[in-house]
Amino acid sequence: MAWWSRSGGLPSEPKKSVPRGVWTKCEGCGATLYELELDECARVCKFCGHHHRLPTDARIALMVDEGSWHELDRDLISNDPLEFRVDERRYRDQVKAAIKKTGSNDAYRAGSATIGGHPVEVGFFDFAFMGGSMGSVVGEKITRQFERALERRRPAVVFCASGGARMQEGVLSLMQMAKTSAARSRLREAAVPYIAVLLHPTTGGVAASIAMLGDLILAEPKALIGFAGPRVIEQTIRQQLPEGFQRSEFLLEHGMVDQIVERPALKATISRVLGWFAGTNGVSGGAGTASRPPSGPDQD
Ligand SMILES: [Zn+2]
Repeated sequence: MAWWSRSGGLPSEPKKSVPRGVWTKCEGCGATLYELELDECARVCKFCGHHHRLPTDARIALMVDEGSWHELDRDLISNDPLEFRVDERRYRDQVKAAIKKTGSNDAYRAGSATIGGHPVEVGFFDFAFMGGSMGSVVGEKITRQFERALERRRPAVVFCASGGARMQEGVLSLMQMAKTSAARSRLREAAVPYIAVLLHPTTGGVAASIAMLGDLILAEPKALIGFAGPRVIEQTIRQQLPEGFQRSEFLLEHGMVDQIVERPALKATISRVLGWFAGTNGVSGGAGTASRPPSGPDQD
């Protein structure tokens, strides 16, 4: 109840209707933001810098060179090998609903593209598709992406945003952690670089596999990154966790992330690193020139 109603002094104004989807409230500072303006700023709040979730189409458009995106393996669809269901809710129906909602066949989109003129094999987790969970399709797509990177000697880049392994596929989803990690290790043996970009949130089986295996690990500010969530850890160890635990800044401080990059600078940073990789080990470098890598702890 408004204060003037309680005091009985002032009449309340008639409510103005705000059309849905025109304004949004910043999740960081609570400011009211104009949707179109927020889109123009890559969904970063102009007041507090909070990074709101960016839809995958917009993410792809922002990160790769215009006209260079060539999507691959789009048709892979999970065939529900376990015929999984919880009560009346069938996994098969959940997948169908997610396909309808997102227009993608699963939670990962992979393709060939250039970033700042450098050819890459790049992939994006789609958090809108069942929380970006990694099942057999996501694992297969990442593996194929790494295999293409190996064959073409192009760096691989993965933008991670995931709740973890897809429980509805049971052990088959857990197997993807080993499968993608094995594909990744073949890149390392061949000295083909792999850059992991951690977005909010990167958790569970994805955090425990490919997300943390990058030659270079970049993260957006304040992204939640970790295996189990903070509440589960607190309940298990019966201790309060430190402030900012499992956020990008905490991980940077503890050597788990190499650099935190704000979204508007992310493409230029990746492009600079690709140029540097091209100048040092001869992988596809496109138009790039050798330059220094971003500051941050060195990788082994
Ligand atoms: Zn804000």
